[in-house]
Amino acid sequence: MYYCGPTVYNYIHIGNARTTLWFDFIRRYLTYRGYDVTYVMNYTDVDDKIIERANLEKIPPDAVSKKYTAAFERDMAGLGARPADILPRATDHIPDMIDTIASLIEKGFAYEADGNVWFAVESFEGYGKLSGRTLEDMRAGERIEPHAGKRHPLDFSLWKAAKEGEPSWESPWGPGRPGWHIECSVMSTKYLDMGFDIHGGATDLIFPHHENEIAQAEAFAGQEPFVRHWLHAGLVQMEDEKMSKSLGNFVLAKDILERQSGESVRYWALAGSYRAQPSFSEESLRDAEQAYERWKTFYDAAAHLLGQEMPEVESEPRRPMTEPIASEGPESFVARLVDALDDDFNSAGAFAAVHEIVKEGNRLLEAAQRNEDAARKDLIEHVRVFLEMTNVLGFSFAAEAADSELVAGLVEYLIDLREQARKEKAFDRADAIRARLLELGIALEDTPAGTRWRLGG
Ligand SMILES: [Zn+2]
Repeated sequence: MYYCGPTVYNYIHIGNARTTLWFDFIRRYLTYRGYDVTYVMNYTDVDDKIIERANLEKIPPDAVSKKYTAAFERDMAGLGARPADILPRATDHIPDMIDTIASLIEKGFAYEADGNVWFAVESFEGYGKLSGRTLEDMRAGERIEPHAGKRHPLDFSLWKAAKEGEPSWESPWGPGRPGWHIECSVMSTKYLDMGFDIHGGATDLIFPHHENEIAQAEAFAGQEPFVRHWLHAGLVQMEDEKMSKSLGNFVLAKDILERQSGESVRYWALAGSYRAQPSFSEESLRDAEQAYERWKTFYDAAAHLLGQEMPEVESEPRRPMTEPIASEGPESFVARLVDALDDDFNSAGAFAAVHEIVKEGNRLLEAAQRNEDAARKDLIEHVRVFLEMTNVLGFSFAAEAADSELVAGLVEYLIDLREQARKEKAFDRADAIRARLLELGIALEDTPAGTRWRLGG
């Protein structure tokens, strides 16, 4: 799986974050269903926008790309996304790109003019097959920059001749830097080979970026397909327009994360189909937060009641396609989740299945609070399934409790009280503190260096 990652020249807006979250989720879900997924996401770290930004911030271009790569990683971690398996940077692959461009010239798909190299769209028969448009449609529909030396207005840049003060690399056509499109063709096939399974991005990349990726890769390899399945995520709308930096109507992910929990933003981003074009509003974020709180409240109440009996979930549960899932009992909620997600990643159905199990779980919780033993057992099973389902959607409740500073502070305080009791030879009180903590799932261990604690008994 390959996903067109960010051009690292600025903080990402919530639309970029949503698309990135979605492809991380698709990768997670396919892994859950038993596929062995290799996930590649590139960083575009050489680009006009990065050079502009460098001039603006008065720092070198590579400092710009380092700064915003780190910011991207921070934002995505805050939203619960895992890094891709392979994260190639364009500037680490310049020789590979030069080799591909040289070969495209040799095969008659590209030409050089004044230190620039252009891809000749008329030389590639399948040009337009992804977007379903002819050269004439595209020419009429796009604003095309005229450039001396181009043979056809739609010919696109493979190599840009160096300009004064810009980063550049030596090449057979003189110093310069690669165009944006060539990096994705070269890096995706380098790590995944021709004919890889899934290529992702947002719908605004279909033309020209993905159309150009196909032309370059298939012309170079002399075979098709470049990619077996294209998946395009819809664009987040802001007041009925697409959210974009160029339109100036964007909200940065980092600003939202300062006032909302990562979980509630993740809920907002994933609860509707990847193809949808959700409208962004503070109200829609608040709705997501409230819905997520229902899950969290259930988890907290169950953890409080069950204490040490609280089930744990594997960090990466698996439900391979080949293994049937029971259609009765708590497992039936898993069956509903996978039925939904197996259908073009219908996340709305999956989120509904989680709300259903929470509803049933709350009913069992009340019964268990009345000391009904059967309900308690049933509740434990439902919590286990709930944790598996939410884990697949990228929510991890257990880890949150373990990370909580508040929990750590309270446990340290109780350890101090116990220590004091022991010094006063009030061993009954000291033992009672230890026993009570153990009931809550916190184990104490006395070492020569002092008392240590850990979660999970
Ligand atoms: Zn790309």
